[in-house]
Amino acid sequence: MEECIFCKIIEGEIPAKKLYEDDKVIAILDINPANEGHTLVITKKHYKNILEVPPEDLLGIMETGIKIAKAQMKGLEAGGFNIGINTNEVAGQVVEHFHMHIIPRFKGDGLEEWERRGRYNEGKQEEIFGKIQSFLK
Ligand code: 5GP
Ligand code: ZN
Repeated sequence: MEECIFCKIIEGEIPAKKLYEDDKVIAILDINPANEGHTLVITKKHYKNILEVPPEDLLGIMETGIKIAKAQMKGLEAGGFNIGINTNEVAGQVVEHFHMHIIPRFKGDGLEEWERRGRYNEGKQEEIFGKIQSFLK
């Protein structure tokens, strides 16, 4: 993965502020944080997105995320945090190497939650429900 920025960080070819490392992941400060302390948990192996990550690795990745979040809360006096995983370009994924965002939150920090679009029109909720549910049977 010659051109992958996160592979280069993992190989030590590009510097990063590494907060944590184990056999599966590293956690680094995001270079362009949503809030100070914004951290990325990145798999050491190059997976394009969460759909490629072996399911048995996901619990450990999430445990690392929680460890980071707790350290942000204690160290930065954050009141809470958001965890985000962007999947594919349409959802805002820019770096195509799996990573999870851990963003510390502070009262009045001004970060917006997702914009909401108002309630469903008559019949639409049932239609959408059916379209998803048909793939869960
Ligand atoms: P995505 O939009 O793909 O979910 O998030 C990619 C994240 O990687 C962005 O928040 C961006 O600021 C961060 N990022 C991109 N390049 C670098 C880099 O070279 N170093 C670090 N530490 N973060 C980076
Ligand atoms: Zn990569």
